[in-house]
Amino acid sequence: MQEAISLYVHIPLCVKKCAYCDFASFAGRLSQRARYVEAVCRELRAQAAFFGRRRVRTVFLGGGTPTLLTGAQVQRLLDAARAAFDIAPDAEITMEGNPGTLTMDNLRAYRAAGVNRLSLGVQSFDDGLLAAVGRIHTAAQAKEAVRMARSAGFDNLNLDLMYGLPGQQPAQWARTLGEAIALAPEHLSCYSLILEEGTPLHDAVLAGACAPLPDEDALLKMDDITAAHMGEAGYAQYEVSNYARPGRACRHNLVYWACLPYLGVGLGAHSDLDGRRFYNPDDWEAYLRVAESGETAREAEGEQSREARMFERMMMGLRMVRGVDAARFARDFGAAPEAVWPETIARMTRGGLMAREHDRLRLTPRGMQVMNAVLVAMMEETDSKPQFGG
Ligand code: SF4
Repeated sequence: MQEAISLYVHIPLCVKKCAYCDFASFAGRLSQRARYVEAVCRELRAQAAFFGRRRVRTVFLGGGTPTLLTGAQVQRLLDAARAAFDIAPDAEITMEGNPGTLTMDNLRAYRAAGVNRLSLGVQSFDDGLLAAVGRIHTAAQAKEAVRMARSAGFDNLNLDLMYGLPGQQPAQWARTLGEAIALAPEHLSCYSLILEEGTPLHDAVLAGACAPLPDEDALLKMDDITAAHMGEAGYAQYEVSNYARPGRACRHNLVYWACLPYLGVGLGAHSDLDGRRFYNPDDWEAYLRVAESGETAREAEGEQSREARMFERMMMGLRMVRGVDAARFARDFGAAPEAVWPETIARMTRGGLMAREHDRLRLTPRGMQVMNAVLVAMMEETDSKPQFGG
């Protein structure tokens, strides 16, 4: 039997671009929503014709801002996904949303269409910081969004938060975490701001046109604050940036970190399926042209060497607190991680940074803090042993 997959659906629409954002999303295209939804439905049919009616365990409507779609449009997309694929009755179906775009009617319709997990991009409960990074909503709107989502029947809620914002003090981050926890979501994601080249925020920071970013010390303090707040509130860390109540880890994202197969549809979406990596055009007209013609673009990503695939499996897997499935690694690559990186793994294990428990190889909490150094050591070890290249 073919392995079950995950399905990602990209909705590249936003009210306005946030100052830090380099995702594939566009402002000012709302009038083309219906056309875009039809194009994605067509792509779903075309992908299923090629890959077969695969069993799907998780669906993720990401963006962009999927909550700019009407309830009927989300229903249409999920109906098309169900017609094309065998969506498991207990599938996790997540939808990302922006608190500045929600209506009670739409939320109820998303829930009725089968969406059972809502992920809200809150980022901060500080209105000054929200405005500084160009978010379209206030802290009060984020709180109202949670209330509305609960009243529409969502019992699995994530809040995305961001730290390391311009001028942000550790005390401000502590307040945001406190406000988020008070809303009792099932899941919290806490991402450190990444300053992406080409974004307005990158230019503003470089030009000194906004408050400076917090320094290393302040960021470390914020990490400590996160760990303390989450621990006290009963959220377990299960990935570098993700925390959940028991049983509420995001099943879709676990697929990415475990390097399991997924199909991405929509503009710019990437896929890793049947040993092939491919992606759709991230240009609006180019995507619509291909999807509306009933074709699939499937631009192939460059061939990855065996060495690169092994390293990626470790890099992604070590992000999870439970670590890498070492038995699956050995099955897929014909060698256990300890045979590929004997020196690094032995040294890290002796130093209390890594631990092997049955079939899993993981970083300890101390190892998590220095994950980049562990990965660099692994890279250096493979570089010194070209026989692992492939
Ligand atoms: S709402 Fe999300 S996808 Fe849209 S611009 Fe802001 S960060 Fe980017």
